[in-house]
Amino acid sequence: MSLPPLRDVIARYGLAAKKSLGQNFLLDLNLTARIARGAGVGPGSVVYEVGPGPGGLTRALLEAGATVIAVEKDDRCIEALAEVDAAWPGRLTVVPADALKVDEAELLGGTKALVVANLPYNVSTVLLAKWLSQPVWPPFFTSLTLMFQREVADRITAAPGNKEFGRLSVLSQWRSVPRRLFDIPPSAFVPQPKITSTVVHFTVLPEPVAPSELRDLKTVVDAAFNQRRKMLRSSLKGIGVDSEKLIEGAGIDPTRRAEVLSVAQFCALARSLNRLRAGD
Ligand code: SAM
Repeated sequence: MSLPPLRDVIARYGLAAKKSLGQNFLLDLNLTARIARGAGVGPGSVVYEVGPGPGGLTRALLEAGATVIAVEKDDRCIEALAEVDAAWPGRLTVVPADALKVDEAELLGGTKALVVANLPYNVSTVLLAKWLSQPVWPPFFTSLTLMFQREVADRITAAPGNKEFGRLSVLSQWRSVPRRLFDIPPSAFVPQPKITSTVVHFTVLPEPVAPSELRDLKTVVDAAFNQRRKMLRSSLKGIGVDSEKLIEGAGIDPTRRAEVLSVAQFCALARSLNRLRAGD
């Protein structure tokens, strides 16, 4: 398929990168192909991509055989992507929209997708939280393959006891298995960011590692990590229930701190909170 080099597309459509949209374009075709492979994209895959930009990663996904539904907020890119659409007729749908506001399940019409994206850094964790907090589980995707700042990838994949272990680790590891694939240096992007990026692959678990209501889990996790160095018996005081009973109900030592609890223990705290609130 002969498409013009991405640099030409950027020049021709005047795609000067906008910082406000987190635009750092990936022009290295070996890397875009590697992301598509890491996501497990092949003939027949349905991919939901956020922020195709000039279309580098999109081309790799189409080249691997996928059908791509992409959401892009920058109207300047929509025109540039028409050329990509023409090269793989009927396989690319570009929706001009804000990914934060899209109802993905509705957009995909019930089809399960692989989510693959070189995310805008300014909204990457908000989008991740949106996807991992889906009210219906299993959700509209079977896996996520996403690029983050390396430090965010550290937090997503951190194990209990690690100083990076926090809210994002618990949310990520509750009903998916996140795994780092590889790092990408600043030099692979235009313009070059100041930071190294990391591609992370999340496999969706059909069931969470332990049961709990998302709302209760968020409440205990937020309270516990707001004061991560304090013992649970004091960090969980602000929740509005008897914190001693809450911790006892979860069968956890009240002198432990948030950063050493397992995801299953946070779920036990969430279930204990739910019982206390129900007056059991
Ligand atoms: N996929 C391209 C690549 O790999 O070169 C571009 C990646 S760039 C880091 C992020 C892209 O997301 C940009 O094209 C930007 O316009 C788009 N974007 C930023 N915020 C968005 C939002 N809220 N919804 C949809 N797209 C967004």
